[in-house]
Formats: sequence, C-alpha cells, structure tokens
Amino acid sequence: MVAGLLFARAGVPIVILEKHADFLRDFRGDTVHPSTLEVFHELGLLNALLKLPHTPIDSVGLDLNGRRYAVATMKHLRVAAPFIAMMPQWDLLNFIADCGTRYPTFDLRMSTEATGLAHDAAGRINGVKLADGGFIEARLVIAADGRRSVLRDAAELPLHDLGAPMDVLWFRLQVPSGQAQGEVPLGNITPDGMVIAIPRGDYWQCARIIEKGAFAKMEARGIAAFRDEITRIAPGLAGGVDALHSFDDIKLLSVTLDRLTRWSCPGLLAIGDAAHAMSPVGGVGINLAVQDAVAAANVLAKPLTDGVNPDPLLPRVQARRWSATRRMQMIQRNAHERVISPMLRGELRSAPMAIRLLDTFPPLRRIPGRVIGLGFGRQHVQSPLAKEFQ
Ligand SMILES: Cc1cc2nc3c(=O)[nH]c(=O)nc-3n(C[C@H](O)[C@H](O)[C@H](O)COP(=O)(O)OP(=O)(O)OC[C@H]3O[C@@H](n4cnc5c(N)ncnc54)[C@H](O)[C@@H]3O)c2cc1C
Repeated sequence: MVAGLLFARAGVPIVILEKHADFLRDFRGDTVHPSTLEVFHELGLLNALLKLPHTPIDSVGLDLNGRRYAVATMKHLRVAAPFIAMMPQWDLLNFIADCGTRYPTFDLRMSTEATGLAHDAAGRINGVKLADGGFIEARLVIAADGRRSVLRDAAELPLHDLGAPMDVLWFRLQVPSGQAQGEVPLGNITPDGMVIAIPRGDYWQCARIIEKGAFAKMEARGIAAFRDEITRIAPGLAGGVDALHSFDDIKLLSVTLDRLTRWSCPGLLAIGDAAHAMSPVGGVGINLAVQDAVAAANVLAKPLTDGVNPDPLLPRVQARRWSATRRMQMIQRNAHERVISPMLRGELRSAPMAIRLLDTFPPLRRIPGRVIGLGFGRQHVQSPLAKEFQ
C-alpha cells in the first residue's frame, strides 16, 4: 500500500491487488514506529494520520516473573513523532487507501487475488495471473504479498530459512469496567510462558507465545487450562479471560523468519515480508516493509515515469535494504535464542544480563529505543520530495 501510494504520487500507474474484500485482518501487528511516522511526516500526512485513534508509547518495558524492567526509550529520537503509535493496521491501510484516491494512477482492487506470474515470449515476467482467470499486464510486478508470498514462489527466488522456535496464539480480551487498560504491561513473562497485551481502546489484543507446533497439545489440555495459564502469566488479564469460551476464539499464527538471498529477477521485485519474513520480536516488520517501499519508489519511480527499463535497477533496492534487514533479523534471532527459547523451556528464571543493565542504567535504553524505533539504514522520501498534503 505504501509503495502504491508513493508510485502513484510520482505519476506512475500502479494497480494494487488485495485478495481480501477489506483490511480487517487483526493479526498483522499494531505498531507504527517512529521511522514510519517520519515517512508520513515527510509526505505531509503525519497530522492527519495521528488524528486516527492510537495509543502513543515512548518507552518499552517488560514484566518478568512479576518484576517490571524498563528496556527502551524513544523520547530522545530526533523525529517528528518520537513514539510508537499503537494503531490497528486496518486503520493505517484504510488511511493510505484514502490518500491514494487523490491520485488518478492509484488503482486499488480489493477481492482480487494473484495466483501466479505471466511471462512474455522472452521469458521475462510481464504481469500476474488472477484467481478469476484474468491477467494484469505490468512493466514491473512488486511482490508485497507477505510471508507466504505466492509470487516469490512462482518467481523461484532463492530462500534462506532462519527458523523460528515459536508460534503465536492471537485473541481478544475485553477490559473489565473499572480497570485501567494500562495496568497490564505490554510484555509479561513468567516460567509459565509469555503474553503480550496490546491496548486497543476497550479491549486488549493478546498474543500468547508458544513453542512451534505445540497448539494441538494445548487444545488437548482444554480451554479452562489455557485461561488459567493466561491469568498466571498476566494476572491483570484475569477479569477478561472468561470471554474465551473455546479454541475457536483463538487464532494460531505461524511465525517465520527468512529472507530471499535475491529479491528480484527481470520483471519482478519482492519487498516486505515477501522478501524477508520478520518475527514479531520488536514489532518491527511493518516498518521494514514500509522502508522497502520507500527505497523501491526512490530507486524506480523516476525511471518508470521516464519509460526506462527497470530491470537493471532492481538489485539497487535490495542493496539499499539488505544490511538493515540482515541486522534486524540477527537481533530477532538472538532474542529467539536468548529469551524466547529459554522461556519456552521454562528456564528463564531471571532476566538476561542485557535486560538488567538496561533497567539499571537509563541512558542505555536509548540504544534499543533507536534500533526499535528507527531501525537501520533509514530511507527518506525522494520520489519526489514535495509535501503536497498539508
Ligand atoms: C504473530 C505476528 C505478530 C506481528 N506483530 C507485529 C507488530 O506488532 N508490528 C510489526 O511491525 N510487525 C509485526 N509482525 C510482522 C508483520 O506482520 C510483517 O512483517 C508485516 O505485516 C509485513 O508487511 P507486508 O506488507 O510485507 O505483508 P503483509 O502485512 O502480510 O501484507 C500482505 C498483503 O497481501 C495480501 N495478499 C497475500 N497474498 C495475496 C495474493 N496472492 N493476492 C492478493 N493479495 C494478497 C494479504 O491479504 C495482505 O493484505 C508480526 C508478525 C507475526 C507473525
């Protein structure tokens, strides 16, 4: 969607395909980080975006075995909005769709599923095939279809799977009347497991981290046992767990950490999770996807407007984003090995040294705050620069 907005803004005709009829999936993350807010600031859209309901978070803490640790702050970041805006992703996507309608070349097609790639006589990718049997011709296909991308598979781009030890169970709990949502920390870890509670107005969007493949065992133990575990891990959620009547109220989300070693081939460029599926650790995946979109538009919008063949330029997008992506995935993998896996084995009895140091020395919290908030190799909108939304 961000790539669509940026290319349309530069005058490039762009068709955006979304297989669902709406954006109301609730499991794509809620975090809009300072780097993404800065992109909207550069576009002159920040004030309008922040009029949407959101919860600003400028520091990140963790509850480990009942003790709260402060681990990151973003207050010092020199950006227009030095905080994470917690906002359901459908609000963000609807907002972008609305901004896109201002451009005649922005063509968003909902309920339109891409099922494969089409090729010209020379074998170059020249469009996508649709589920309804149709075909859309394109000078360039951008595969931004997420971590189970059918387009990257069809293009047979080489994939490096980094593995992930966990899956996520995703469910909503109503905030009981009289309880303040902020009483429950965002991250809760005990020997019984880990629960994230994302504040969304009158309910918490919760994520329970489980060992990969362990869902069937949990179902066998029954919903009452599941409710008890949630209450033991995050006692503040006790008043809401009765709403979980069965495992039908809970979605299983599979976590993947991987990356293509080559993001493009003639006629196609992969970005976002399609190029590098991110783990939920740090909640940075949306922001990496947005940064890829900015890099793609910066490299390709002008040449596409000028009618230049984009193929030789495609590796430049990967070159701009490769190191940032690898470094962030390295951090996520480290967190999997040092925090998530020991926690899943019930061995995380005390906070790792790094977390204790961050809690003890407040200035150190600026470092993870910067990494989470801005990531690496930040991209600025140059396609073109002008802020025409004011
Ligand atoms: C459990 C979990 C929690 C997460 N929490 C966070 C978080 O809080 N913050 C964060 O930043 N990141 C989070 N992430 C990572 C984040 O979800 C991804 O990194 C991010 O959504 C990637 O964006 P994307 O646009 O590349 O792909 P997606 O957000 O997956 O978007 C792909 C879009 O393409 C559509 N689509 C797919 N296939 C087709 C097709 N064939 N035809 C047409 N349309 C298609 C999909 O419907 C979807 O709308 C989380 C990941 C997981 C697994």
